[in-house]
Amino acid sequence: MPTTADFEQLIRGSGLRVTPPRMAVLSAVYEHPHADTNSVFGVVREGLGEVSHQTVYNALSALTAAGLVRHIQPPGSAARYESRVGDNHHHIVCRSCGAIADVDCAVGEAPCLTPSDDHGYAIDEAEVTYRGLCPGCATASAPTP
Ligand SMILES: [Zn+2]
Ligand SMILES: [Zn+2]
Repeated sequence: MPTTADFEQLIRGSGLRVTPPRMAVLSAVYEHPHADTNSVFGVVREGLGEVSHQTVYNALSALTAAGLVRHIQPPGSAARYESRVGDNHHHIVCRSCGAIADVDCAVGEAPCLTPSDDHGYAIDEAEVTYRGLCPGCATASAPTP
């Protein structure tokens, strides 16, 4: 887990001004991978006290634009944020409870999936959403013997 000094360095290193909301948002995203905007807001509010949704939202977009945070939006799910950036990993979403887990590139390096026809595009990223039941939900829905 990065320290406060690490977060400061990350933010400054990406050319952004270090502000308390940005610090709080970045550490919230590190602590809670795949958190949606509301959860990030809750965590930030616990740490900083009175802070507006807009402030948190602005910090999230600045951090995302700077490449410190990755914004994912699995189909049918709210926007989520994570600190694992730049490795083109994919996600598994539980059909029942919405839990999200990381999946490394399916094959080799990014984009890791070769389209049957690239239409002449230079492709450097592929985003795949796997769906199924998480272990908890799979157990809960299994018929009791
Ligand atoms: Zn589940
Ligand atoms: Zn992820």
